[in-house]
Amino acid sequence: MAELQKEFMDFKTFNFHSSIAAGIEAAGYQTPTPIQRKAIPAILKGQDIMGLAQTGTGKTAAFVLPILERLADGGRGFVRALVVAPTRELAEQINDNICTLGQKTGLRSISIYGGVNINAQIARLARGVEIIVACPGRLLDHLKQQTVSLSRLEVLVLDEADHMFDMGFFPDIKRIMQQLPARRQNLLFSATMPREILHLAREVLHQPVTIQIGITAPADTVTHAIYPVAHHLKTRLLLELLKNTNTESVLIFTRTKHRAKRIGEQLAKKGFKAASIQGNLSQNRRREALNGFRDGTYQILVATDIAARGIDVSGVSHVINYDIPNTPDAYIHRIGRTGRAASTGEAFTLVTDDDINLVRGIERVLGARIKSKVLDDFDYDIPAPKNNQEFARPPRKPVPRYKSIHKQKKTGPKPPGSTSSAETKSARPQQRPAGSKSAARSKPRSGGGSFRPRRSR
Ligand code: AMP
Repeated sequence: MAELQKEFMDFKTFNFHSSIAAGIEAAGYQTPTPIQRKAIPAILKGQDIMGLAQTGTGKTAAFVLPILERLADGGRGFVRALVVAPTRELAEQINDNICTLGQKTGLRSISIYGGVNINAQIARLARGVEIIVACPGRLLDHLKQQTVSLSRLEVLVLDEADHMFDMGFFPDIKRIMQQLPARRQNLLFSATMPREILHLAREVLHQPVTIQIGITAPADTVTHAIYPVAHHLKTRLLLELLKNTNTESVLIFTRTKHRAKRIGEQLAKKGFKAASIQGNLSQNRRREALNGFRDGTYQILVATDIAARGIDVSGVSHVINYDIPNTPDAYIHRIGRTGRAASTGEAFTLVTDDDINLVRGIERVLGARIKSKVLDDFDYDIPAPKNNQEFARPPRKPVPRYKSIHKQKKTGPKPPGSTSSAETKSARPQQRPAGSKSAARSKPRSGGGSFRPRRSR
């Protein structure tokens, strides 16, 4: 049995074309991940797939490898496979994966998304490609301008379908599907399965095989810690943490775009090799920041969840949650960036009194209390400045909280770092006004105990 399992763990079991085996070797993959073991045989048989899995499971190669196998033989010069993805970063990442794994196949692949000049894409398409990885909007532009034809498509992949739904792409996807031949293989991947995705799956997939890879708790190689701190001292504490910790590369997560940008700038000003990525950056600036982080030009990358979604950066030694994520899933997802393979990683989360329930939720998923830590020489008693812009709100009447949130959504002026787009949709708008009594707090208690909320005096 053990022998059999070992045999099955090898990519050789799939009997890939030698050009694809060469790509697997070039990528450095030794054994298939669970989703690859389950999905590859079914996709190779030509079956439709409903894959419940998120980024980090190896799902891209799970569909890319069998697609390359299918396309290795057969016609060239027309689009045979289309992968639709919600974000430019994910589209680029999938395309990179295709280029690595398919480098010896001679198949041509292109990523297509908005925010960049369309003419270069038109020129590439005119030269002929077999695989397109696209965000829906720009692909529709090409279809309208007839700069691409999908009439001979053989395989359609809808990746991160739940995010595409969240981002309002379903009408676009339906329009794209009207241009596809009826006979084709369909692969749909989603991290979650809300009703809307089930409906889409019913519409798109034909007798699908369902493959589910659950959320796996972070690797044992990751050490977790929370650092209780008042809102207004977060940045100071972050700087101290970075000074006092031996880090290689650090990914810092914030809840808002504004904050990601501001912290990136502050760290750079203090002499750290830091960059930030958030939704407002141009594609070139994002790419520059990401590539710089990957190649070590930047040691620190500050990002929002959406900007970092789907981004795979290996070798992250520390993930620091400047703002705690809104769900345990998001925590696991962020933390998944560190402690990969055999290397170790640390996950630090700065927490305020408001975050107690979120901390408890994460602990439930981890199945353990997270160690609460204090920095010895850090002054936790510095009062909040009178003009604390970061957590300040514009003056307003003292109305019940639910009303003020409602009002802000509709008409309210937006304070710095406020929630304004999909990027910050789920932010919890409960920060206290600057200078409020509760903003200045006593030094957190024990360094080793668990996080206890300290009531405002
Ligand atoms: P994904 O979930 O597709 O974003 O993949 C996450 C990361 O795992 C990427 O860096 C892949 O290159 C890597 N990966 C995918 N499959 C394997 C494998 N079989 N062995 C090692 N790494 C892999």
